[in-house]
Amino acid sequence: MISLLTRVQLCGFKEENMERIYLDHASSMPVDPRVFEFAKSYLIKDYANPSSLYSIGLEIKNAIEESRKKIAEFINAENEKSIIFTGSATESNNLALRGTALRNIRDGKEVLASAIDHISVINPMKELQKNGFTFNVAPVDPYGIINLEILESLLTKNTTVTSLMYANNEIGTIEPIKEVSKIVHEKGRYLHVDATAAAGRLPIDVQEDGIDLLTLSSNDLYGPRGAAALYIKPGVKVQSVLLGGGQERGLRSGSENVFAIVGMGEAARIAQKEMKNESERLKKIRDELIKEILKIEDTYLTGHPTKRLPHHASFRFSYIEGESILLNMDMYNIQIATGSACSHKTLEPSHVLLAIGLKHEEAHGSMVMTLGRSNKREQVPVIVKGVKETVQRLRQLSPLT
Ligand code: PMP
Repeated sequence: MISLLTRVQLCGFKEENMERIYLDHASSMPVDPRVFEFAKSYLIKDYANPSSLYSIGLEIKNAIEESRKKIAEFINAENEKSIIFTGSATESNNLALRGTALRNIRDGKEVLASAIDHISVINPMKELQKNGFTFNVAPVDPYGIINLEILESLLTKNTTVTSLMYANNEIGTIEPIKEVSKIVHEKGRYLHVDATAAAGRLPIDVQEDGIDLLTLSSNDLYGPRGAAALYIKPGVKVQSVLLGGGQERGLRSGSENVFAIVGMGEAARIAQKEMKNESERLKKIRDELIKEILKIEDTYLTGHPTKRLPHHASFRFSYIEGESILLNMDMYNIQIATGSACSHKTLEPSHVLLAIGLKHEEAHGSMVMTLGRSNKREQVPVIVKGVKETVQRLRQLSPLT
């Protein structure tokens, strides 16, 4: 890992007045100013606790219920009661997996996830394993698509929860959710889908796709951090993993983050209206970036070439290392990611890149670009120049070339 000193030295080279090009929307997104305007009164004026019985409390409770309706519409849920607000996608994933596995323990003690699921899915599954559950992992192909035959062979009537991402945040691959749902419902029980990376970029219909539990995050929709949601299909039994005052139908105790919740609903409403055009716009820019960057020698796309999120481009470069790419790109005032933002505290390469069959040294040379509203076509040549020069500079220094 690059030391802090090297990092400071590299940042010192950054030229003044370079336009900032942010390409890391999978790890953090700005709040849409329209969302902020819509929800800001809940920070400074309408700050009463929604559980209070006086009239302002009731009005605030109604604002939360309006937001719940917008989220339900966004994913075509049966009704708004099937939406539970939580504090983060991590929390929604924990509630979905631990809450469902523990509540249905009499029906079986087996759980399953794909090898490329997010760490906030994998770790709760491992915790269940420590508590006597069997945790099966379904492998993926070199593009990151789940192997349906192996999935089927791993499922039993005791598999109460199966978890899969709608689309992967590191390699952009979109999973065949409908087919997975069919298999899970024939052989196992409930399907949980982590749609954190896909929501706002692809239309999601929980009824059409046959999903029992679905995780959504506010910030990934240009909403405020501190809110997320878990869809729970009517009839699916889940128990709380947080105990306290019994908010959110007893499934998520703790005073509601009203500003973030109201903002999330408005962000979802805007996303529903604007997603199609915005995804088409970003896809064009993304395709151009992929075409140009793949012209660099010994450079490969990671993830599926077509079944991928429209704003997502991810690569691996031979002989060089992701952290150095990230820091060099920062000298051009371009922010990119390497592997998962959540695993930067370890030297291990991303579990997703290893799961698609890359060797350790191959997985270390990864770069992920996730586009958003601030990105424009005119930025493509600047980004491509930055990548080309970065790769050339690092390869000159690499002992592997
Ligand atoms: N799932 C996926 C697919 C993610 O990309 C992330 C991170 N953005 C999470 C879950 C966890 O989100 P958070 O850190 O906001 O809880």
